[in-house]
Amino acid sequence: MSALVVAVDGPAGSGKSSVSRAAARKLGFDYQDTGAAYRALAWFALERGIDTEDADAVSALLPQFTYRLGVDPDNYFVRVGETDVETAIREPRVSAVVSHIARVLPVRAHLVELFRRTIAATTKPGIITEGRDITTVVSPDAQVRILLTASEEARMGRRAAEVSGQSAEDVAKQLTARDAQDSRVIDFMNAADGVITIDSTQLNFDETIQAMVDLVHRTTG
Ligand code: C5P
Repeated sequence: MSALVVAVDGPAGSGKSSVSRAAARKLGFDYQDTGAAYRALAWFALERGIDTEDADAVSALLPQFTYRLGVDPDNYFVRVGETDVETAIREPRVSAVVSHIARVLPVRAHLVELFRRTIAATTKPGIITEGRDITTVVSPDAQVRILLTASEEARMGRRAAEVSGQSAEDVAKQLTARDAQDSRVIDFMNAADGVITIDSTQLNFDETIQAMVDLVHRTTG
């Protein structure tokens, strides 16, 4: 039997990553964090001293970009070459430029292929893949397609609690700016046809995980 594919999209701070990973663990599925790939490439560009707004220079990096992601929810890692970048890719300097590289079309085409290969290679009964364009571009045929949203206030509050060393106000400003830049490229605020919205504004972490798990069970009967 082929693996069940669960596609999850949503804005920054909606809890997509932590909820998807925990739901995958409960279901015995793999978990693919696609934002990590865009972040890892942004980190790589900064390491190489490339201007992240120079689309040609960013595209030229792709052949040298050896990226590896742990898809087991209990063994998550992000590596570029031999370097462990799991922590570095969450730094504000990376968050500040990741939208630049995410709008470069050859970058998107390259990473979409990589995400599809990872989905096809899972050895588990299913895989949850989360990002911005999973329900619409990466895996529009996924058996379960979810848009995970939360009010802007709830999202800012959650992200401020995650990021240390920055004021809540700075975090909110960065998040709003990143969502605005990203939404020029992809619409991840509105559910596409056939996509089910989970609004987590009034749900705590465990309730949101349960909502996702229930939805997978309902779909698979
Ligand atoms: O999900 P996360 O916030 O880590 O994503 C980081 C960035 O990667 C986003 O702000 C967006 O620019 C880009 N991204 C994307 N498409 C995806 C996942 C992430 O463009 N599927």
